[in-house]
Amino acid sequence: MLLIDILTCYATAGIGSVVGLGLLALIQTDQPRIMHALNIYRWAFASLAMMSMIILSSPETVATISKVVIGFAGMGVSLLAWAFRQLNGRRTLPTLGVVVTCVVGAALWGAAFLPDPFYVRTMAAVFCLVSVAMAVDQGWLILRSARGHLSELCLMAVAFVFSAIWLAMLWHAIDTPGPYPNHWLHAPAWLLPMAGLGFALLPLAVAALAFTTINARLMQQLRARALSDELTGCLSRRGLRELGGRMLAMQQHNPSEVAVLMLDLDHFKAINDRYGHVIGDEVLRHVTHVLRDRLREDALLARYGGEEFTVLLPVRDAREARGVAERLRKAVESTPCETKMGPIRCTVSIGVSFHADANTLEDDISQADHRLYAAKQGGRNRVEFVAPTLG
Ligand code: GH3
Ligand code: MG
Ligand code: MG
Repeated sequence: MLLIDILTCYATAGIGSVVGLGLLALIQTDQPRIMHALNIYRWAFASLAMMSMIILSSPETVATISKVVIGFAGMGVSLLAWAFRQLNGRRTLPTLGVVVTCVVGAALWGAAFLPDPFYVRTMAAVFCLVSVAMAVDQGWLILRSARGHLSELCLMAVAFVFSAIWLAMLWHAIDTPGPYPNHWLHAPAWLLPMAGLGFALLPLAVAALAFTTINARLMQQLRARALSDELTGCLSRRGLRELGGRMLAMQQHNPSEVAVLMLDLDHFKAINDRYGHVIGDEVLRHVTHVLRDRLREDALLARYGGEEFTVLLPVRDAREARGVAERLRKAVESTPCETKMGPIRCTVSIGVSFHADANTLEDDISQADHRLYAAKQGGRNRVEFVAPTLG
């Protein structure tokens, strides 16, 4: 059987944690949630890094120093569990995170003064509790969100493997009295090499997985930012081009059609002139909210420019598109924007076209834009259609 020196595993885990700290230092972000998770990960690795202290111990002091570094390891694992939660966007009261971490440390260091069997059992019970809680928490998140990126699944797998190891050690500690080794991992002979190797590799594996998960999150956010409009939060023109192109491509294999709505606020310049640009911005956000509220989930809403919006909408027939356009027009008309200067009413003119296979998105938008012009000419606050080719 593979012979593994557990004290070397402790030292490896400590040194791996220093590498983990360095790896996470490479991540730069201005996202508060990710920054917070990163900070907790750093504390976790700093705590686990204390395991490298074992290098300094002599044969006479190794049992005592092991108890010290096991306390730090417990705090480190508890901080890792907190960091996982934070990274997944689950709220954990900072006080709760700090209290749990301190309780884990205090329990492990306090138990160090107890007679050996109690120490070994307390240690196994504490690690068992923390790793099972971490595994269940991560598993629950993945089940609930049905998301499961590979790195998240791996983090969950790591947590489950550790729970299993600690459960086996707890059972062994209760069932089999000493003698106890000077590194205090009281495990069946078949389990010890696996446990030692696991502990040695844990910090590096977690650091690499956390690094990948954080990077994936940042990429997602960067992409979402690039595709959304800063003022209103709906799609930007670029987002419309990308997601709209995809919608049109998918629609080719679908019996339904895509309606393209161009909306322009009526006399918006007058609102800016009268109330100022800040209130004008508020009205734009309000109109976005009203439109989003009245649209189905599968519709795309984009800010095409200044006070112009575009909607791409899968519809069964022209009648449905007419119904939606009228609903949007009426909703904007009847929902004033409540501002500190009082309610501001506005209206919107809408031009509607339908996507034809031979057309590009730009062609569709240009046709809808022509109808929008007609709606303006026709007196505003109205809907105009391209002569429908369907329904
Ligand atoms: P019409 O009914 O013909 O569309 O008249 P209008 O006044 O809405 O159209 P016009 O094109 O004359 O003016 C559009 C105004 O929209 C002018 C511009 O100052 C304003 N605008 C464009 N972008 C923004 C923005 O981001 N914030 C604010 N507050 N105003 C904007
Ligand atoms: Mg305009
Ligand atoms: Mg306008």
